Amino acid sequence: MTEKLTLTIGGKPVDTKARLEVRNPASGDVFADVPDAGRAELDQAVAAARAAFAGWRDTPWAERQALVSRIGDVLKENAEELARMLTREQGKPTAQALGELSGAAGWCKATASLDLPDRVIEDNDSRYCVTRYEPIGIVGGISPWNFPVLLSTWKIAAALVTGNTLVLKPSPFTPMTVLRLGELLRDVVPPGVLNVISGGDALGPMMTEHPGIGKISFTGSSATGRKVMASAAGNLKRLTLELGGNDAAIVFPDVDVEATAKKLFWSAFSNSGQVCIATKRAYVHDDIFEPMVSALTALVRSTPMGDGSQQGNALGPIQNQPQLERVRELVDASQQAGDTLVQGKAPADGGYFVPLTLVVEPQEDSPIVVKEQFGPVLPLLRFSDEDDVVARANRSDMGLAATVWTADEDRGLRIAGKLETGSVWINESMAISPLAPFGGRKQSGVGVENGIEGLMAYTEPKTISIKRSPP
Ligand code: NAD
Repeated sequence: MTEKLTLTIGGKPVDTKARLEVRNPASGDVFADVPDAGRAELDQAVAAARAAFAGWRDTPWAERQALVSRIGDVLKENAEELARMLTREQGKPTAQALGELSGAAGWCKATASLDLPDRVIEDNDSRYCVTRYEPIGIVGGISPWNFPVLLSTWKIAAALVTGNTLVLKPSPFTPMTVLRLGELLRDVVPPGVLNVISGGDALGPMMTEHPGIGKISFTGSSATGRKVMASAAGNLKRLTLELGGNDAAIVFPDVDVEATAKKLFWSAFSNSGQVCIATKRAYVHDDIFEPMVSALTALVRSTPMGDGSQQGNALGPIQNQPQLERVRELVDASQQAGDTLVQGKAPADGGYFVPLTLVVEPQEDSPIVVKEQFGPVLPLLRFSDEDDVVARANRSDMGLAATVWTADEDRGLRIAGKLETGSVWINESMAISPLAPFGGRKQSGVGVENGIEGLMAYTEPKTISIKRSPP
């Protein structure tokens, strides 16, 4: 492991005097510091990206695909080192950190298989007309702390394969793994094509305002997304906003309760609930409500939570102190409102832990249901009527994803058609794919990442036509 991580700008290491402390969420202790980039380093990174742009834009698509595929290899070859670092800064158990690395590698490989060929609109005796998908230029990528590597890789793969150059900023809470990836790619990616800079709270707004950046690809909360959109108006930047969610699960009585409880459990509690597409409220049919609560209770009480670097812990801490406080506040409010809480065990002191928590039948309009908890908390609500449950699921200002659990595929598809979300998964959850567009409706986002539509969002269509003389 590199002792002292540095920024990557123009293919070279850059350090700063100002430092950003990194804490291990399993203990709360500072264990490292990284560069705290400011305006000067950002300007330097944008200039490097600008200098590299024309050459990278003119590099054939197949070569760019090969490079993105090679990035996948680098992620794979260095997975052990990166996963250890990821567990330390993010908190997730090592096996899941390895899973994130393997997902990121696979994402590069799959994205490298995609193509955006020219589209011939007209080709006849009087005119030839073609639409090409050209890169935007300099992209600013801003990623969150829950899946620092995977979500940064989405931006790297799509921006680079489409011929853009990138200035990437990880979250100040989890800067290390992405900085390290930047270091590992210095010999792989042409200088300036991928620049990685870490910094504190001021750096994100500097990027969204920067006149040299043509597009912002942002993943984070809806509150920040609104600020990004306002700030990007300065030079009318292109925007992709992947924001928060309040995903509903709808569980019908024709399912196998025990098997579905397990799937629902992981749909809500993977990464200790810190997943944008985690189930954040579950509507369970009246006929199976009690058995479902019992099955989930058994899982909540038996699933070990603790330091992710220690074997045997299936779930880790909340990633940072402010988020810990937000989750605790919601659980406390629920307790004070008299809700029935079922809780698992979590380390009592040291580290940012919240025990797994089921909230049984809270008020539909209570904060624990209406707000994105982004922690290991799942409200369980009862329903008996299909139309009613669809209306309740849609009664949210978020619209990221939803799940439907039923043995009846027709019913699943019928409900999927009525849910106001970007994705619906039936009898599975979090089934994202590098080949399928992914994004949120309403306040869960603007635009999509992944798939052909995701690549298009990194391009500007240009239409060229040639007037041909009539025969
Ligand atoms: P956040 O909005 O606090 O921060 C995200 C990133 O934005 C960080 O890098 C941060 O430094 C930066 N940032 C903060 N203020 C900024 C500003 N004013 N201008 C520009 N950048 C700024 O989000 P978070 O707490 O890191 O992540 C959790 C949230 O992200 C949750 O709401 C979750 O649902 C969402 N999320 C969404 C997706 C998705 O694909 N839709 C995926 C993962 C997480």
